[in-house]
Amino acid sequence: MTEQTDDADVIIIGGGPAGSALGTFLAKDGHRVIILEKDIHPRDHVGESLVPSTNIMFDKMGVLKKIDEVGFIPKPGTAWNSPRSALWKFIEVWLFEFPLENNPQPYTYNVERDVVDTILLRHAHESGAKVLQGVKVANVLFEDGRAVGVRAQVSDGWERDLRAKVVVDASGRRCLLATQLGMKKKDPNFNQFCVYTWFTGVKPPPERLRGFGLFYFLGLPKGWAWQFELRDDKWSMGVVLDKADFQRTGLDYGDFFDTMVRRNRNFAFAMQDAERIRPWWVEGDYSYKIDRFAGPGWLLIGDALRFVDPIFSSGVDVALYSGFYAYEAITESWRTGNETKAFAEFQDRVTVGVDIWYEMIDTFYSLQNLVSWFTIRKAWREKFVRALQGNPYIPETQQRSRILLDAMHESYERVTADPNNLLRPWSFDDILRKNVEWNPEEEAARFLPCPTCGGRVNLDLTREVLVCASCGAELPMMSKAERVKG
Ligand SMILES: Cc1cc2nc3c(=O)[nH]c(=O)nc-3n(C[C@H](O)[C@H](O)[C@H](O)COP(=O)(O)OP(=O)(O)OC[C@H]3O[C@@H](n4cnc5c(N)ncnc54)[C@H](O)[C@@H]3O)c2cc1C
Repeated sequence: MTEQTDDADVIIIGGGPAGSALGTFLAKDGHRVIILEKDIHPRDHVGESLVPSTNIMFDKMGVLKKIDEVGFIPKPGTAWNSPRSALWKFIEVWLFEFPLENNPQPYTYNVERDVVDTILLRHAHESGAKVLQGVKVANVLFEDGRAVGVRAQVSDGWERDLRAKVVVDASGRRCLLATQLGMKKKDPNFNQFCVYTWFTGVKPPPERLRGFGLFYFLGLPKGWAWQFELRDDKWSMGVVLDKADFQRTGLDYGDFFDTMVRRNRNFAFAMQDAERIRPWWVEGDYSYKIDRFAGPGWLLIGDALRFVDPIFSSGVDVALYSGFYAYEAITESWRTGNETKAFAEFQDRVTVGVDIWYEMIDTFYSLQNLVSWFTIRKAWREKFVRALQGNPYIPETQQRSRILLDAMHESYERVTADPNNLLRPWSFDDILRKNVEWNPEEEAARFLPCPTCGGRVNLDLTREVLVCASCGAELPMMSKAERVKG
């Protein structure tokens, strides 16, 4: 038998942020890396709002300056509101309110992903990685249970087996290797679905909130919308909700999106004069779980290891950090000759961090009001802001997040156990049903003018909505807490 020679030390499947980060670190360290990317960059991609800790990783990769020079819209914070919040009234989180260690600048970015992903992949190449674009990996090759390479294909039918000491799957939500090994499982708690696109002419928020990631709650159990400002008066607007809720509507994407816009007063106002400038993009079936991130000769990084939901803009953060930790695990395994130990440590490290993001997401969906409540409490603000800053892989972030999450879980138990607590999810539905101390005509009379056109709104009691007599916009009714406040 002839001994086979490796084509590289490491083969990386996929040239998104995860693959480019790992490729950069390995190549800078003098290792032979091949990145195989099925598309040719620039290619469109969802995921335009970043979190602060990505700065630290971009800096470590030596690419922050290149990204900063593009002139992406700086993002200093994030803010959200509920369906009936007063105009431009948000719960505001200044993400750099508390200093982030080793962070080189007090803002992150809203990015066009085709542009930033191209910069990252080119940077990997400039750092010494061999980048082959338009080359798709069909499958990972195994010998005696160990990954030894990949079968690479070009669209004209050319294919070739490439061999390496380690194969890393960074193929994103395609999860090439996890699918091949039958490890990808649908997340039992989430079945999220998203419709989004770019608009121009969206009403900008007040100056102090420029660049903020803005989120609109829609009064639906797993539904919310985003507004991210991009360069040149482009705005990324998207709606996320449980897939079953979308299917029940029977609407096409455009009509469905419009219905969601009307569910939040601020969202409706922002979209008044907006014009769509790209086709609708749809993302579905993206909530999944994979229990194993590492095995003999292979690792998973980025979305290829897990993706749940984008509410905290955690995707690129997970991609970059898991890429970095994979670099550390691979080089450690070569240094010590103990791959099993180094890869098991990688799995543990990444699992803890990803689980924190997951718990944050789950807690948010269990009780959106509670998240707002914790954010505005002085005692909890720092912990909350720091959790949103990203990088939950280091012990300090984990400890802080653990304390916050435990307190939130405890509050959740207390709130849901008390039938009179108005923070309970859908507590106002009970009030509507029982008609306790509630006068719908009075509510209609007290209602503000239609936020979309300023017209008068009428009460439609059978459907329990307020409908604008002029433009037809539909609005959910005011909650008891809001009525009391008002
Ligand atoms: C609706 C939605 C909104 C989101 N919003 C945000 C956000 O605001 N902020 C954020 O940080 N994240 C967001 N994300 C998540 C973000 O998009 C991802 O987490 C991020 O892109 C992961 O990077 P990656 O490198 O792991 O994968 P990707 O960026 O998907 O890159 C994978 C690459 O692998 C290539 N590839 C796939 N299969 C093969 C193959 N067989 N052979 C060769 N190449 C292959 C693909 O072409 C692709 O270029 C969002 C996700 C969704 C679904």
